[in-house]
Amino acid sequence: MPSHATSPRTSPPARRRRRTLTASCAVLAAALGLAACGTANGALRPQPGVTTASSPAGPTSSAPSAGPTGTPSSPGPSGSGPGTPMPPGAPATSAATATSPAPAAPKPTTPKPPATAPSTAKPPAHSPAPTAPPATRPPSATATPAPPPPPPPANDTATSVVRSTASGGRTVALTFDDGPGPATGQVLDLLAQYGAKATFCQIGQQAAANPALVKRIIAAGHRLCDHSVDHPQPFAALSHDRAGYEIAHAQEQIVRAGGPGTRVSWFRAPGGGFTADNQRIAAGLGLRPLGWSVDPRDWSRPGAASIVASVQSQLRPGGVVLLHDGGGDRSQTVAALKQLLPWLVAQGYRFDFPAG
Ligand SMILES: [Zn+2]
Repeated sequence: MPSHATSPRTSPPARRRRRTLTASCAVLAAALGLAACGTANGALRPQPGVTTASSPAGPTSSAPSAGPTGTPSSPGPSGSGPGTPMPPGAPATSAATATSPAPAAPKPTTPKPPATAPSTAKPPAHSPAPTAPPATRPPSATATPAPPPPPPPANDTATSVVRSTASGGRTVALTFDDGPGPATGQVLDLLAQYGAKATFCQIGQQAAANPALVKRIIAAGHRLCDHSVDHPQPFAALSHDRAGYEIAHAQEQIVRAGGPGTRVSWFRAPGGGFTADNQRIAAGLGLRPLGWSVDPRDWSRPGAASIVASVQSQLRPGGVVLLHDGGGDRSQTVAALKQLLPWLVAQGYRFDFPAG
C-alpha cells in the first residue's frame, strides 16, 4: 500500500518550523553556508504538472521521495530528516506510488522566502527567460482562431525528466545529492577504488562553502548537477521567480566553486519537486531535469543492508540511482556503497552518466 500517499513528508512541524525560520534563517544560512533553511525533509512525490520521462530502462520509476537536507553542520536530529522519514521497511514499496498522482502541491500560501512576489501564477506556456518576471507575459488571448501552440514539455527532450543513463544497456548512473559535505571525500575514494563515475547534485551554498571538494569531483571525472541554492521544499510550490533564482544562482555558485570551465549539466529539483515550469527554467539554462529510477531512501537511514537490498532489487539496466553524500550523517550510505560497488561490477554493470 502506498501508505505514504497521504502523508507528504513535509511534516507539519517541519513546515511550521520552516515558515517561522525561513526569513531569518535565509539570512543566517546564507552567512553560514547552510542548507538548513527551508529544508524540511520533504520527500515529494511527482507533482501533477510533472512530466514524466518514460523510463526506457523499465525500472518502476520509484516515487521521487527523499530529500534529506538538513544541514551537514548540524549533526543533530535535524539531519535525520525532520519530515518523518518513512519506516525503514518500506523502500521497495516506494515504487508502488510511482503512478499515483500526487496530491496537488501545497499552494504557496505560506510566505515564501525573500525575494518573491506572492504571485503563484505559473507562466502559461513558455518561459524562455527563466529569471524574467512572469508578470508581463502576454496574455496570449489573441483572438486568432489559430490553434494554440501547445509545447508539451513531456515530449520535449530538453525539458523532460531524465531517469535513465546516457548509454543504456547494462549501465548504471550513480547520483549523489545534497553535497558536497563531510561524506563526499569518502564517496569519492570509494568511487575511485572501483573506477566508477558518478553525478553529484550539489546544493549551491554548499558548493560555495566547499570549493575544494567541487574541484576534486571534477578532477576525478565526475559530473555536476544543480540541486538549488538551499534546497527549499516543497520545491514545486515555489513561485516562478523564486524557482528561477534557486536554479540559476546555484548553477553560478557551482561553476564559481569549480572554477573556469566548470560545467553543470543537469538540474534535480529538491525532493523531486519538478513542475513543467521549473523544468523549462532548467532547460533554459542548459540543464536537463534529472530524476531517478532507483531510490533506496538512504537519506532516511534505513540501515546499510536495506540500502543495498533496495538498490539490488530496484535496479534495471540503464537505471539512475539516487543516493546522498550530504544532508546529515551518511555513514550508512558509505557502508552501502562499499557493498554496492563491487556488486555492480560483478553484475557486469558499467558506470555511466544520466542521459543529457
Ligand atoms: Zn536533495
